[in-house]
Amino acid sequence: MNALITSLIRAGFDPERIIPGAPMAQYTTFRVGGPADVLVHIASEQEVSITLHAAQEAGVPVTVIGNGSNLLVRDGGIRGLVMHMGQSFSDIARDGDTIRAQAGATMAAVAHFAQREGLDGLAEIAGIPGTIGGGAIMNAGAYGGELSQTVARVDAIAQRDGKPRHYEGAALGFAYRRSAMMDAGVIITGVTFKLRPGDPDAIAARIDELARARREKQPLEYPSAGSTFKRPTGLFAAKLIDDCGLRGLRVGDAQVSEKHTGFVVNLGSATASDILALMDEVKRRVLDQTGVALEPEVRIIGEDAPLKRPSDI
Ligand SMILES: Cc1cc2nc3c(=O)[nH]c(=O)nc-3n(C[C@H](O)[C@H](O)[C@H](O)COP(=O)(O)OP(=O)(O)OC[C@H]3O[C@@H](n4cnc5c(N)ncnc54)[C@H](O)[C@@H]3O)c2cc1C
Repeated sequence: MNALITSLIRAGFDPERIIPGAPMAQYTTFRVGGPADVLVHIASEQEVSITLHAAQEAGVPVTVIGNGSNLLVRDGGIRGLVMHMGQSFSDIARDGDTIRAQAGATMAAVAHFAQREGLDGLAEIAGIPGTIGGGAIMNAGAYGGELSQTVARVDAIAQRDGKPRHYEGAALGFAYRRSAMMDAGVIITGVTFKLRPGDPDAIAARIDELARARREKQPLEYPSAGSTFKRPTGLFAAKLIDDCGLRGLRVGDAQVSEKHTGFVVNLGSATASDILALMDEVKRRVLDQTGVALEPEVRIIGEDAPLKRPSDI
């Protein structure tokens, strides 16, 4: 790992943006997860290519994260290099009725920028706590809006060869919480939105209304990764879980939210293994009682914590 860090610094990386042993709990909204061997805060497209190349030379695996709002990192952390697309890679600019943003811009920042510019189409995604890179790859959506409705183009870099890729129109391959970029092994660097003119006050009112609805329904007072399970075809995971009597079920400090049974929340000191054990128990009981097999919506990554040796206990 030291050779990798040295080659990144030689390539011009600011050492302050290279974090060895980065605690992933600080980079995920669930606030759990062990350390990454090294985490790099990306600041440009060129740095994505440089980092990929350096990691390949060092034979080190690469994981990409945005705001960590759909991630559950196991307690042993992540081996290899984590590319963090966040604040330092988040410029947003307008060109006519399009907006282009770098991958690390949050959906909230892009939606509020569009609102101030009098461009409509992003109010529904303003409350989703991820980046546009994470949002575009997952086709994030809420309240009848999803990124597929406004994304005109995605710029990316292929993990395999470090070369640029561009996706437009049908090639974006959007479906429910899916996109073509998901299977292509690419790192999204920028997203262009095509929007329509709108009244800034009306857009602001819609953003506020939806934020209120979220605060009323969702347990935003606790760390979580949003909906824990995917919506089974024609059903709602939250309703199935509630009907099975699992509201408030706990493993350690991991709990099926009392407020919204679709969310598992961290009451304070939950570990990733508490959350995973709770998810397994929920899946088991829902399957037993209803025959429906729930699938996780959250991406589970990283390694389990090493088992304690008898001498450690
Ligand atoms: C309170 C709460 C409410 C939520 N509500 C919603 C909702 O209403 N609708 C909804 O759709 N989601 C919701 N989510 C889930 C989450 O915000 C979205 O899935 C979001 O799109 C994840 O973006 P992120 O930047 O946090 O991605 P991360 O969680 O960091 O990563 C998610 C996946 O995307 C990949 N990824 C991230 N950035 C890139 C990139 N630049 N290039 C390639 N791959 C990348 C990662 O490798 C990972 O596989 C909610 C989460 C929370 C905590």
